[in-house]
Amino acid sequence: MKVFKTKKELNLYFKEFRSKNTKIGFVPTMGALHKGHLSLLEKSSKENDITVASIFVNPTQFNKKEDLENYPRTLENDLNLLKNIACDVVFIPSVEEIYTTTISSGQFDFDGLENEMEGKYRKGHFNGVGTVVKKLFEIVLPTYAYFGEKDFQQLQIIRKLVKKTTLDVTIVCCDTYRENNGLAMSSRNARLTSQEKEAAAIIYQTLNGVKDKLGKLPLDAIHKWALEQFENQPLFELEYFTIADEETLKNVTNISPKKTYRAFIAVYAREVRLIDTISLNS
Ligand code: AMP
Repeated sequence: MKVFKTKKELNLYFKEFRSKNTKIGFVPTMGALHKGHLSLLEKSSKENDITVASIFVNPTQFNKKEDLENYPRTLENDLNLLKNIACDVVFIPSVEEIYTTTISSGQFDFDGLENEMEGKYRKGHFNGVGTVVKKLFEIVLPTYAYFGEKDFQQLQIIRKLVKKTTLDVTIVCCDTYRENNGLAMSSRNARLTSQEKEAAAIIYQTLNGVKDKLGKLPLDAIHKWALEQFENQPLFELEYFTIADEETLKNVTNISPKKTYRAFIAVYAREVRLIDTISLNS
């Protein structure tokens, strides 16, 4: 497994492969790797000749300084995990390597996708995501890039980014990897107490409850039921619950059989923010 810190080293390594039409799979991450990340890498290694992971905690996508500072950083452990799977290249650039002199985001128009859910509660988040993913794609030039369904809004935004630019990469959606109790794996879970981790099963349970009720109860009753699951329980504060159209990500008030919908949840356990989503009718 090769580990590169600079674009120059990476380009030099890829020079020989690019001319041979090598399929390059890419998994961008912010590190603190868990089985969810590894499942993306495993998928990539099955579908490509070379698999590249990047580990870069992107400062411009954090809207809170404390969240950036407290984001878990476990590089040594990450590299050990990657050594044991079929990952060929790891790119671990510094902030200067990616942003050179100015650490700031570009402005993107994602046709309104950026204004829903995460975009509402984390101002500027998707400009930061768009900026770093575009830069990483331009450096790695992947054939396929793998993103988790857990961050579905991010996935749709990346698809939109690719559509609106000349980037020649296919975006692949990967299933959410979960703990036994249904909690979606996340680097942020490392900051939960064991009691919070156990109780966080309520997130996936609520999403599944919503799926069960779809078509049996009116949408506003389902919405009310979902909110009730988070009332009177001390460990989690619900930030949003939404049933949204998968294409537009807009909250819906009625369901058409021709479209696909998802339920989305964001909660806080103290200052740790968790998100999850499931498909409702696809
Ligand atoms: P992150 O390091 O949190 O930026 O995540 C890097 C990639 O891994 C993103 O495409 C995430 O959607 C994906 N990912 C994170 N958690 C999971 C999970 N539990 N299952 C599958 N993919 C995930």
